Amino acid sequence: TTGVETFEFQVEARQLLQLMIHSIYSNKDVFLRELISNSSDALDKLRLETLRDGDLEADTSDLHIALEVDKEQRTLTVRDNGIGMSHDDVVQLIGTIANSGTAKFLKELKESQDAAASQDLIGQFGVGFYSSFMVADEVTLLTRRAGEGQGTRWVSSGEGTYTIEQVEDAPQGTAVTLRLKPEDAEDHLFDYSSPWKIREIVKRYSDFITWPIRMAGESAGSSSDESGSDDDSAPEDGGTPELETINSMKALWARPRGEVTDEEYNEFYKHISHDWTDPLETIRMQAEGTFEYQSLLFIPSRAPQDLYMQDRKRGVQLYVKRVFIMDDCEALMPEYLRFVKGVVDAADLSLNVSREALQQDRQIQLMRRRLVKKVLSTVKDMMSDNAERYATFWKEFGRVLKEGLLGDFENRDAILEISSFGSTHDAEQPTTLRSYVERMKEGQEHIYYMTGESRSIVENSPHMEAFQAKGYEVLVLTDPIDELWVDAVPEFDGKQLRSVAKGQVDLDDEDESSEGGPEREQQKKDFADLLSWMTTTLNEQVKEVRLSSRLTTSPACIVGDTHDVTPALENIYRAMGQ
Ligand code: ADP
Ligand code: MG
Repeated sequence: TTGVETFEFQVEARQLLQLMIHSIYSNKDVFLRELISNSSDALDKLRLETLRDGDLEADTSDLHIALEVDKEQRTLTVRDNGIGMSHDDVVQLIGTIANSGTAKFLKELKESQDAAASQDLIGQFGVGFYSSFMVADEVTLLTRRAGEGQGTRWVSSGEGTYTIEQVEDAPQGTAVTLRLKPEDAEDHLFDYSSPWKIREIVKRYSDFITWPIRMAGESAGSSSDESGSDDDSAPEDGGTPELETINSMKALWARPRGEVTDEEYNEFYKHISHDWTDPLETIRMQAEGTFEYQSLLFIPSRAPQDLYMQDRKRGVQLYVKRVFIMDDCEALMPEYLRFVKGVVDAADLSLNVSREALQQDRQIQLMRRRLVKKVLSTVKDMMSDNAERYATFWKEFGRVLKEGLLGDFENRDAILEISSFGSTHDAEQPTTLRSYVERMKEGQEHIYYMTGESRSIVENSPHMEAFQAKGYEVLVLTDPIDELWVDAVPEFDGKQLRSVAKGQVDLDDEDESSEGGPEREQQKKDFADLLSWMTTTLNEQVKEVRLSSRLTTSPACIVGDTHDVTPALENIYRAMGQ
């Protein structure tokens, strides 16, 4: 060995560790789910890397996860022979927090005065490896990256610093050893040195892991006289007990729906998404025939912190015949559905398939079409079956979904059908276009909208006056993306979408024909001089000044040509330097 180096945790890391040490989660059992999840990822990565790099000197003969409990020492070890980490990996991955959402989370937590609200916030935030410190007062991680000679030992009590030392004879992969907190020793609920307890947790949270999770029988390494429910055939003579695989390893997506509980689906979701909250919706799909695949997709119940960030990851994973191939398979899901998580397992692809090849693959394209339609139809069902759930969906993902109105022509109608918009009909509740159309007044031909930066700006706009006077409903579109899609979407259900701020709204015509008449003619004469003076004076700024009936209380307003860009879009263009 080459001496022990001491490092300090990054500030955010230190804050999170303090939260862990003081056990802010009510359910501490989940630390094991996190460690097993990491091991499973490490095994996936190793298998992938050996597929890609034939020269990698790695042992892949018996890839698995092993759990070891020592009742006397009160330790628990989670061991894998996966990809492992180099010295620098350990410093980077374990010593700092790369996740861009973390800083935001910590800030929100600090600002939140309400205890219940912060508890809620914490419950949603995944902390991965650090969750070990909920149950351990010291954690040791011994790891060697596959193909490398030197191993690394990392030790910390989670209090500000950690140590690192080089190790000569470390086995390939990673072993995380937890020295369990003494204060939990008496509490049966938190007895993580009991094989029985460990089995129970694995069954509950990690049963679907596709790698074997092995553990010795109940009496192995244990001198306790506790008489738990012992279904093992551990030897009486104290010899090496048989290791047993304690998870079923069944790929959840391949099992019939009726066989899988909601809780199992939820735990699987948490494993692949690294989210700590149950999903909003679980979508299962199977296709047989020439191109066989199975898929299990999830709509999360809240938007991840990085939904709008460049480095976001983990959408849909691609498997080929149960073998993990890649994360965030963009060929399977369009950008506007990037919040969808899950697994697609195809029977007929090469294990070596590249991202580039996938984009071109016709069968993948067909699959993607079916998956997209299925996701959209699931949201549609949600709308009719569970309004509250749909409202949550829309609040979290509506803005992203609307991006699809710009590019996905094939599904535009389906997207419009499941979209909601602010409206003058109800200041609180957004409306669907379908309901808008149902409420349309006698004689109203079009769907009217107005875009703007905020609801109050739109509501107080002079453009709205005539519509308000008429009792016509106007959609209030305040998301930046709204500026873009309204120009791309001409109509819904045969009704044109019309901006109230553009062109000669037909309200003018209606007014002129009905109550206009001679009175209107007289007005035109009265104002002719004023109008021509204004037109000349404002020559540089406007095309034309005309008498309008669209205003009821404001004296004047500026109107765009029907095909002009809206003021807000003008701002967007200007900001982009165009
Ligand atoms: P996450 O799994 O969400 O990335 P974690 O805190 O659980 O966050 O883990 C941080 C990182 O440490 C992982 O992304 C991985 O690169 C590395 N890591 C953790 N456990 C292992 C392991 N058993 N083998 C290899 N790398 C690991
Ligand atoms: Mg993890």
